[in-house]
Amino acid sequence: MARDSAQVAVIALGDFLAAPPRGTPPEVLEAFNLFAGPGAGPLPPRLFFAAVEQAPVAVSITDAKANILYVNHAFERLSGYPRAELLGKNQSLLSNNATPDSIYQGLWRTIQGKQTWTGTLVNRTRLGGDYLAELTVSPVLNPDGRIDYFLGMHRDVTQVHALERTLRQQKALIETVLDAAPVVVALLDDQGRVLLDNQEYKKLLGDLRGREPADVLCQAIRDQAGFDALEEGLAGRGFKDLEVGILPGPGRAPRWFACSGQRVDELDVGVRSYFGVEQQGHPRLLLLCNEVTVRRREVERAQLENLRARLAEQQFVQGMREALAAAIYQIQVPLNVIHAAGAMLQGGACHPDSLAGMINQITATGDRALATLRAALPEETRELGVAANVNDLLRQVLELSTDALLAAGVVVDWRPAPVLPEISVHKTQLRSVFKHLLDNAIQALNETNRPDRELHIATRLARDSVEVEITDNGTGIAQEDRLRVFEPFYVGWRNKRGRAGMGLALAQEIVNQHGGCIEIDAKSPDPSGGWPADYPVPAMGCRLRLTLSNLTTEAAGA
Ligand code: FAD
Repeated sequence: MARDSAQVAVIALGDFLAAPPRGTPPEVLEAFNLFAGPGAGPLPPRLFFAAVEQAPVAVSITDAKANILYVNHAFERLSGYPRAELLGKNQSLLSNNATPDSIYQGLWRTIQGKQTWTGTLVNRTRLGGDYLAELTVSPVLNPDGRIDYFLGMHRDVTQVHALERTLRQQKALIETVLDAAPVVVALLDDQGRVLLDNQEYKKLLGDLRGREPADVLCQAIRDQAGFDALEEGLAGRGFKDLEVGILPGPGRAPRWFACSGQRVDELDVGVRSYFGVEQQGHPRLLLLCNEVTVRRREVERAQLENLRARLAEQQFVQGMREALAAAIYQIQVPLNVIHAAGAMLQGGACHPDSLAGMINQITATGDRALATLRAALPEETRELGVAANVNDLLRQVLELSTDALLAAGVVVDWRPAPVLPEISVHKTQLRSVFKHLLDNAIQALNETNRPDRELHIATRLARDSVEVEITDNGTGIAQEDRLRVFEPFYVGWRNKRGRAGMGLALAQEIVNQHGGCIEIDAKSPDPSGGWPADYPVPAMGCRLRLTLSNLTTEAAGA
């Protein structure tokens, strides 16, 4: 088809030269004669014409005012105009209003200055479709150096432009996502230079007063984790959530970051890669650092509080031990005197004066021992009543007792009521009650030899109270002791060490203050009353039920 057209064009050229139209510029006739006639070189001149005619790029030749004298096939195809409609018309026929005037002005300034112009215009086809044309216009000078013609060549670059825009849009999208991420992001080259970063990185740069955050973080990793982040990352040995601290500046609090590093390979964009001959791409390190300063401070604060509480407890126990040791020592003296007086009385050798002296000594040393004990009595801490959820308090106490429960091999069955109103409580006091009851259950389980040790804890909302049940399958409490265990100084344990027999007495007092009561071995729970249906009833052991009635006004109203 192309060859046919070329042949037709060559025949047309012959016809044209045989009877050139009036007004045909002599230079054009001269040029066409050159093409049509026998060539001087090894190639026939008409070959040049055939080559242009069949070239895949749109070619046009115009006069000095851009009136079209010649177009090739590719021009016809691209513009949609047949050659006959184009000849004699101005190139502006293809113009689309979307091209700014300044572009045309630049084009004309350049070509009239006898230079070649290359640029992009928006062209319109015969059917009204727009396309982007990458156009090159070169002036063709006559022997006097005047511009007689222009040679124009253009191709459709609409798709290239669409691809470029898509690429730019993707890049903008990635940048927006990166900037919105609440994480410091930086892409580093093999020299540690930052190739790409995000908003959080820039904020950190400001906070570090211009010190490069990537350098500061890599240095911190080197100092605190003992390896070179860049070296390791580029070698493909990434790292994840590594917590390091940095000092933003003198006198400022440290900031903490969980850092992750991963190697990414930038694609080879060299020309050889066009045919799939890939050179090795450039390895990069993608550094992601998530600030964890707030969490870190909270953990540190909690650890400090925990330490403080342990120290206070240790000091308290130590103080009590010292006071009790002193009181025991002081009580020993009047006891010795009482023993001596008893022996004297039994032997009948007791003079009333020496007896009176002995009684005075007993009274004096007894009073001193009493005073020592009173001084050791810890001050009662006044606590304000606040609204609290019993489930939360129990959960905290269970957490506190985890070590003891694990050590005793106890299986815990924790069944909190899904919904429980808040009640007005003295939190610390109520926690100490729960803690004491759990400690009792653990001791009761430790005093049995049974391997299956169970502790069931459940809560429920009764009509106008919150109920807590703590059930164990330990030693249990004999029927006749169920009231006595609440008496002060009653100790029923086999192992009495460290037990003063005051725990249940105090627990009952606290629960009474909360408008409730404690019952031992209360009847089996009624599943219809809100307790879990499969709530177990151990064959032996102790079931303890606490009723707390201080519902807050809101909960009581509901
Ligand atoms: P115009 O009023 O014609 O021109 C706009 C501005 O261009 C003017 O204000 C002026 O500054 C400058 N200008 C126009 N003509 C001349 C001149 N003769 N001398 C000095 N300055 C001038 N345009 C296209 O849109 N698409 C094409 O594919 C295209 N191909 C071309 C190929 C060749 C070889 C040449 C020489 C020009 C080509 N042009 C092309 C440019 C075209 O000739 C017009 O200048 C352009 O289309 C603007 O036309 P217009 O009617 O919108 O405005």
